[in-house]
Amino acid sequence: VLSCRALPDTSLRKDDIPVHGLSETIVGVLGGGQLGRMLCQAASQMAIKVMVLDPQENCPANALAYDHMVGSFDDSATVEEFAKRCEVLTVEIEHVDVATLEKLEQQGVDCEPKASTIRIIQDKYLQKVHFSRHGIPLPEFTQIDDLEGAKRAGKLFGYPLMIKSKRLAYDGRGNAVAKREDELSTAVSALGGFDRGLYVEKWAPFVKELAVIVARGRDGSILCYPVVETIHRENICHIVKAPANVSWKIRKLATEVAYKAVSSLEGAGVFAVELFMTEDGQILLNEVAPRPHNSGHHTIESCYTSQFEQHLRAVVGLPLGDPSMKTPAAIMYNLLGEDEGDRGFHLAHQLIGRALSIPGATVHWYDKPEMRKQRKMGHITIVGPSMSDVERRLDSMLCKDGYDSQ
Ligand code: ATP
Ligand code: MG
Ligand code: MG
Repeated sequence: VLSCRALPDTSLRKDDIPVHGLSETIVGVLGGGQLGRMLCQAASQMAIKVMVLDPQENCPANALAYDHMVGSFDDSATVEEFAKRCEVLTVEIEHVDVATLEKLEQQGVDCEPKASTIRIIQDKYLQKVHFSRHGIPLPEFTQIDDLEGAKRAGKLFGYPLMIKSKRLAYDGRGNAVAKREDELSTAVSALGGFDRGLYVEKWAPFVKELAVIVARGRDGSILCYPVVETIHRENICHIVKAPANVSWKIRKLATEVAYKAVSSLEGAGVFAVELFMTEDGQILLNEVAPRPHNSGHHTIESCYTSQFEQHLRAVVGLPLGDPSMKTPAAIMYNLLGEDEGDRGFHLAHQLIGRALSIPGATVHWYDKPEMRKQRKMGHITIVGPSMSDVERRLDSMLCKDGYDSQ
């Protein structure tokens, strides 16, 4: 019978160098998607053992994990069973069974970040309430329970109005925009109705979207990665430019807001803070992810310590690494499914074929068993001596340079 192991002191001490990997702690990751896969890649470099819990037998992390338990990260008995096999639990997705994490924490199981953090973040409305209580600037918002409430919110905030489902949102699935009052009921239905649990946000008139990855170690130390610009296509992150081309003042403000947001949450690990920058130079918080994030994929090639290595260092209690960039500029380009099935694979492989001959480009392919439209299948990071160089290389990869019009 497996039992909960006593928690080890996970900090690496000079007089107590572990015999095998950099840390003897077995890290359990709830979720085995691409983020779990890239955590395993970083772990292998340091000989840290990562186990993943994912329902899909051939999930992206499967081939690289030290062990893969096939099962749902949203099922209580499964999560409890998984916890017995690991020494620290962490997540690559926030839509996990948080009640079980709370119960496990009470029994002494180490969750990083803390279950309280996952609870706040997995409900976007609760998240907004939390951050506004902590004085973090964000778009005005209010809960809606019926059409009358939605209309009142529309009168209060104006149109377009952003309607969001509180839970289980990702890649914009869970958001609907009503341009006028008469579009409210269609938008609400598109999200599955009021029973789903909805709230509205005032439209944020942003000129750029920015993001900051923030890391917190077990000792409470906090480090911020450089501010990046994220460019979305149909609500899905498509391109990330690092560093963001914004003034020093904006960089400072964005970093301060991100730092403050993460300081209000408990536990170790990396967090991603998504931000809006408005024309008049305001920074508003959009949402926080309690884990490595798409806006930080570029760090694998462009920073001294990638977000994945940093997350592992944080949760096992190693010192945090240097988050600064070792290349002047980087662009991350998401390989989103352009089409279903074989045609989708064909289109992605054409692009990858070109990327392989672009200087400074690195191809990441997540090995997802199925190609679907708009699904994140992989990404390409291009690094180079300046942002304009990197942009030119991206254009040539996308055949936008006028030489190749394939
Ligand atoms: P993710 O995949 O990042 O978790 P998500 O499904 O949680 O996405 P959001 O981050 O809430 O969705 O929104 C997705 C995108 O929609 C944002 O990046 C932004 O482009 C746009 N958006 C969200 N909220 C607002 C708002 N209040 N005003 C204007 N645009 C918004
Ligand atoms: Mg989200
Ligand atoms: Mg988002």
